[in-house]
Amino acid sequence: TGYEPADNRYETMDYRRCGRSGLSLPAVSLGFWHNFGDVTPFEQMERIAFTAFDHGVTHWDLANNYGPEPGRAEENCGLLLRRHFARHRDELVIATKAGYGMWPGPYGDGGSRKYLLASLDQSLRRLGLDYVDIFYHHRPDPTTPLEETAGALATAVHSGKALYVGLSNYDGPTMERMAGLLDGLHVPFVINQNRYNIFDRTIERNGLKDAAAQLGKGIIAFSPLAQGLLTDRYLDGVPADSRIAHDPRFLNRSALTPARLEQIRDLNELARGRGQTLAEMSLAWLLRDDAVTSVLAGASKPQQILDNIGALRNTTFTAQELARIDQIAAR
Ligand code: NDP
Repeated sequence: TGYEPADNRYETMDYRRCGRSGLSLPAVSLGFWHNFGDVTPFEQMERIAFTAFDHGVTHWDLANNYGPEPGRAEENCGLLLRRHFARHRDELVIATKAGYGMWPGPYGDGGSRKYLLASLDQSLRRLGLDYVDIFYHHRPDPTTPLEETAGALATAVHSGKALYVGLSNYDGPTMERMAGLLDGLHVPFVINQNRYNIFDRTIERNGLKDAAAQLGKGIIAFSPLAQGLLTDRYLDGVPADSRIAHDPRFLNRSALTPARLEQIRDLNELARGRGQTLAEMSLAWLLRDDAVTSVLAGASKPQQILDNIGALRNTTFTAQELARIDQIAAR
């Protein structure tokens, strides 16, 4: 490996405590949902990972099913870790998850002890790791008792295969009940991972945000750029190298309604008035709030990571700016 990490890699990033835990996360984290599967050249993944690490983006987020094919993002991350980051394992927080459908039959989906613990073992093999730093239940499973899911997360930690646990896509009341169970089992549940961005305020309405703050749990906001909509990417059409053009599995042209484009244009104007790009303002809008530990952004190229870290230069907003953002988003 020719990669030598930058000596000054910790000089510009902000690290924020995950709730009332001992774990600090970079304000900007890197997601492996897209751009780490079969369709991306490995060399591009290397450049993204190097740029991230060189700028203090020490938290990488995965799940069992990230690909394509499912599992491939973990395999590629494993390759990156082995080839380039073996000496830096203790400088990285690697997260993975189980909860969505992963393999056929009744044991490859949901929240059972059977599924979660088998999936974690598979993830560790793909990643080539002895443990992950954070193991998440990826989504609530109303058909499995919370006690069982909590018990599986406890076993993950007590067997040394995960240092911390997290919950993803839970609402406030369900998260609170799980937090009580996990406390009882002495499990370090430290983080919630939910979609949160200027366009999607679900966690402000379903109790998750308030409950997390009250219980001292962190929040990491996924799709903070609404998969790229909250950037300047789609202002003048659909560029060939954009997610809508090259990987429309979860974001396609139907998202670009005239009303949506008007909102994006108006937000872009507001961002420019603040001397920021729209991507920077969108991330700063989340990070202005201490309840949000980190923004979990994706990147298809290294420059996007640098742009996104630029958000840290200004995370304060006037009351008028906040009101204007709310007004545009509510249209
Ligand atoms: P974002 O909202 O950050 O979208 C990322 C995409 O936006 C990039 O791939 C890129 O797309 C574009 N982009 C990023 N930065 C810029 C920039 N500065 N300027 C212009 N365009 C930019 O997040 P994702 O939707 O990718 O989600 C992020 C992570 O969150 C995932 O990787 C995953 O780890 C996690 N996640 C978790 C879920 C859960 O259920 N727990 C669900 C979804 C995501 P392009 O260049 O290709 O157009």
